[in-house]
Amino acid sequence: MTEQEKKELQDRIHSVQERVAQAAVRAGRNPDDITLVAASKMNDTERVRAAIEAGIRVCGENRVQELLDKYEQNAYAGADLQFIGTLQTNKVKYLIGKVSLIQSVGSVHLGEAIAKEAAKHQIKQDILLEVNIGREAAKSGLLLEELDEAVARLSEKPSLHIRGLMAIPPIADQATKNSGYFDEMHQVFVDILTKKYDNVSMDYLSMGMTNDFETAILCGANMVRVGTAIFGTRPYQIVSP
Ligand SMILES: *Cc1c(COP(=O)(O)O)cnc(C)c1O
Repeated sequence: MTEQEKKELQDRIHSVQERVAQAAVRAGRNPDDITLVAASKMNDTERVRAAIEAGIRVCGENRVQELLDKYEQNAYAGADLQFIGTLQTNKVKYLIGKVSLIQSVGSVHLGEAIAKEAAKHQIKQDILLEVNIGREAAKSGLLLEELDEAVARLSEKPSLHIRGLMAIPPIADQATKNSGYFDEMHQVFVDILTKKYDNVSMDYLSMGMTNDFETAILCGANMVRVGTAIFGTRPYQIVSP
């Protein structure tokens, strides 16, 4: 990276942090209560390190192999590492012990696989349950009507700690168009919060990305996953029409 590129990265990070803080204040909340997760996919170790140097405290990866490669290179030193992408049960074993939080648990089956692997390592793995709030066929995640049973079943696993919910709503043209989904997620989050389950604490509501993180915060998100606004446009976004 050139000095100029580092400077631009720093500026983008500070701008996102500022926008997160302003949205928090508008929502009547404390900016410190919002966790900014830098979605670092397709950004190499050098760029991840530069982001951490510029103030990023949490990195989210969404491909296991890419995470392992960068992990080997010690890319995430000084930051918390989380997994946010689609996860196959046979790859769970590579993540346990490396990530503090697996955000994308979209089925009881996957949750059980994580529980089993975490138990082997004698750790308690923090997870979020992923909700397919837009009911999209192409997306993973629990449907709303499946959520209660999933929470009940996974809360029985002593090696899991359910820390909240995550959602990726359908792609919207305008930032505010997803507020219906975000509001719905917040309602469900509060509903589960008020029920008392073992091994469940509704600490995080993870929703909102580059195009809509401010809207998500206004609707109750306290964790946002931002890639493009931090790192700039990813290579494949440039080649796509
Ligand atoms: C890439 C990614 C993001 C961030 O997307 P941007 O639109 O670039 O901010 C958030 N969540 C997940 C699961 C992702 O894969």
